[in-house]
Amino acid sequence: MQYFSTNHKSSPVSFRNAVLNGQPDDKGLYFPTTIAKLADDVIGKFKTQSNEDIAFEVIKPYVGGDISDNDLHDICRSTVSFDFPLVKITENITALELFHGPTLAFKDVGAKFMSQCLGHFSDKASKKTVVIVATSGDTGGAVANGFYGAEGVDVVILYPKGRVSRIQELQLTTLGHNVITLEVHGTFDDCQAIAKTALADESLKKNAFLTSANSINVARWLPQQFYYWIAYKNWEGQLPVISVPSGNFGNVTAGMIAAAAGLPVDGFIAASNANDVVPRYFVTGNLEPKPTIPTISNAMDVGNPSNFVRMLELFENSVSENIKDFTAVSITDQETTDTMKRVFDENGYILDPHGAVAFLALERHISNRPGSQGIFLETAHPVKFDSVKEILGTFGEVPSSVAELETKEKHSIEINADYGSVKELLLNKIL
Ligand SMILES: *Cc1c(COP(=O)(O)O)cnc(C)c1O
Repeated sequence: MQYFSTNHKSSPVSFRNAVLNGQPDDKGLYFPTTIAKLADDVIGKFKTQSNEDIAFEVIKPYVGGDISDNDLHDICRSTVSFDFPLVKITENITALELFHGPTLAFKDVGAKFMSQCLGHFSDKASKKTVVIVATSGDTGGAVANGFYGAEGVDVVILYPKGRVSRIQELQLTTLGHNVITLEVHGTFDDCQAIAKTALADESLKKNAFLTSANSINVARWLPQQFYYWIAYKNWEGQLPVISVPSGNFGNVTAGMIAAAAGLPVDGFIAASNANDVVPRYFVTGNLEPKPTIPTISNAMDVGNPSNFVRMLELFENSVSENIKDFTAVSITDQETTDTMKRVFDENGYILDPHGAVAFLALERHISNRPGSQGIFLETAHPVKFDSVKEILGTFGEVPSSVAELETKEKHSIEINADYGSVKELLLNKIL
């Protein structure tokens, strides 16, 4: 499989190079030259296959021959090594819980797959690999966990001091070994700016191969198809509409790729919070990036969604013929909070703020379509967001991994939000 740049200036590259480069030089995004359509008999077999076999079948065409079948199978096995249950909430709304992985968020799937691909490819390189990530909470934990213990790879995480939740901070700071965590006196935007400067700094690249692990990398994006197919395997009844809480729109576009490949689905809803650049696009026809608005579903606080160009590519290539219906909506914080309270009171289910955005969007959508069924993606465990306890008075059942985290020691390096200090530290500590 070759990957072209959505800006069409850089030349197409293999899966390996798309993973190692992350982003094409022309600043577009990599996109597969063809969608790997799955034959009906292959899809039929998914109903009785293991999750790892499904994952392997789905991703193999996108990897081409760059990883042997054996190794790819191993990578798939450890990527989907946890549960993806469907939990019925109301008569016609079901949650697809994606928070049973190591850091209790769906990003574990992409991060795990990507880290193993990068580990696989960098085995053969002569320099060590340093992964630099800025995080507002969820990404950093998933990436750190994915790369934890990987040979020849060091991970540097930058997070804004005092602005991530307690559990997120513990997930970021208690791993140690090859994971170095910088607690930055500044905002997420400061962290991101520092990470970008470091990645572009030639003087850091002499002794190491520097890379980011952000969501635009195809090795993080494409494996997100896995759980849509796993949901299909476990789903019975009429075709569902799928509602996806969206920030950078990587998750929903992965679902759309799966649909283009043959996933039976009635339609998609991309549910945004107050950061409504994409819903507005579908009204006005113009994409107008805006400064980020802080909300309680903060992992979706994105003012300029990077995967939007992939969404356009999907629509323009008419690979979306399988997507009967696509809607993008925006939900306010007040509506999110009200939904969390109502669903807790009426159905006894604890939504995290991101899942709540998708739930309400879905509920509204199917209320006009009597008899239809829907699935929403519950993208993170409620315990990761301090607001859940403030709103509902409880986190519900807390996974045992969280109690274990509480016993661990925090290791972070506090640092000012200026590139000079970070560079000095990188040169002294790692490079
Ligand atoms: C990252 C994230 C999202 C948004 O996913 P995108 O692929 O960026 O649209 C939604 N919910 C949670 C909990 C997240 O961490």
